[in-house]
Amino acid sequence: MRQASYWELAATPQPAPQSLPETVDVLVAGAGFMGRWLALFLGRRNPAPRVLVVERDRIGYGASTRNAGFLTTGQITEMFEDARDSGLDAVLATFARRRTGLALVRQEFPQLEVDACGSTDFDPVNDEKREFARHVNAALGEIMFVERPVNLGGRATTGFFQARDGGVHPVKLLELIRLRATGATFAFGVNVRRIGQGAALCEAGGRTHEVRYRRAFVCTNGFAPDLEPASPVVPGRGQVIVTSPVTTTTDRTLGYLNAGYDYFRFVDGRLLIGGGRDRFRAQETTAEIAVSDALLGHLRATAARVLGHERFVVDWHWAGIMGFVGGRHLGGSPRRAMDETTEAVAGFGGMGVALTPVFAREIAQEF
Ligand SMILES: Cc1cc2nc3c(=O)[nH]c(=O)nc-3n(C[C@H](O)[C@H](O)[C@H](O)COP(=O)(O)OP(=O)(O)OC[C@H]3O[C@@H](n4cnc5c(N)ncnc54)[C@H](O)[C@@H]3O)c2cc1C
Repeated sequence: MRQASYWELAATPQPAPQSLPETVDVLVAGAGFMGRWLALFLGRRNPAPRVLVVERDRIGYGASTRNAGFLTTGQITEMFEDARDSGLDAVLATFARRRTGLALVRQEFPQLEVDACGSTDFDPVNDEKREFARHVNAALGEIMFVERPVNLGGRATTGFFQARDGGVHPVKLLELIRLRATGATFAFGVNVRRIGQGAALCEAGGRTHEVRYRRAFVCTNGFAPDLEPASPVVPGRGQVIVTSPVTTTTDRTLGYLNAGYDYFRFVDGRLLIGGGRDRFRAQETTAEIAVSDALLGHLRATAARVLGHERFVVDWHWAGIMGFVGGRHLGGSPRRAMDETTEAVAGFGGMGVALTPVFAREIAQEF
């Protein structure tokens, strides 16, 4: 059974196509953020290629319609841990990409409502992290992260605040991108069964169609291994709850806890909270879109900690599927050639909202 996210209340399922073209210049599989941004930027090339985007769901059923809507560059504790594993240069390069993506989203869609609440890392501050934040600010050439007093569930402490981050409605953003990608044809309800060497076998309405292409991009994120058996992408499930309307003294911000494994924001007077993947790693290493009671218990307990009380009920609980390449966020590039005509662009981890437009623009510039 299809499991709706809070955001999908605002979605209009798209009709299935009557037919599919036999040939296109560019075929894009998957209409999440990556596939849509790619269609938008390809449409700006001169001459613009004929682009067909095929999506097996009527809205999109992976990560983009089911995430937390953080338009974020990242936060200190996680960057600190990533720098230990992968080096400061890799952390700063990813930060810079996300910062570019953040600016791109705002520049393309000034009409998009962004909850300009900034983000706060609520994990304990220590001297090592202070020193790290100083380094990061110096390397970025601007004061991005400031330590300041914060309130979490009635407990006063300090945390690192970053003012530029904000919250978006992911489904509204997805729809804006699709409507702006006027040169592309979108076909929903079309499942790509096989792709490679200039041809894709697509299934729609119980029939199969072959679509031939000059170039194709597999933008199916956590589902990439279905179409690319050698894919390094490992699926990872993320679960999210939205509570009933709540009152709390907790700061209204994008909140990070537990090195970013747990995260929260306030939406329409409710608390949205996600995470727990680190505690249920084996169970959550799956491409199955389903929720679990064990993880619900963790999210409820974290919500009580964030709010400072238990006066709420869980009104929504859903799951989405991320794709990871070799690590949490810095694992590797999402771009891989499958053959001379076909490329996979998949594996954005837990941070694709700001990253996907940057990769899409980069790919389109190669045309
Ligand atoms: C619970 C959760 C919370 C998250 N929170 C955030 C956040 O706050 N901020 C942030 O930046 N990132 C967040 N992310 C990550 C972010 O959502 C992703 O990085 C981003 O959406 C990836 O976009 P995509 O287009 O690559 O993948 P997807 O959105 O997964 O798109 C892939 C699409 O391909 C389709 N598809 C799959 N197989 C086929 C096939 N064979 N044929 C046709 N279509 C197919 C799927 O239906 C799907 O719509 C979160 C992810 C999850 C799961």
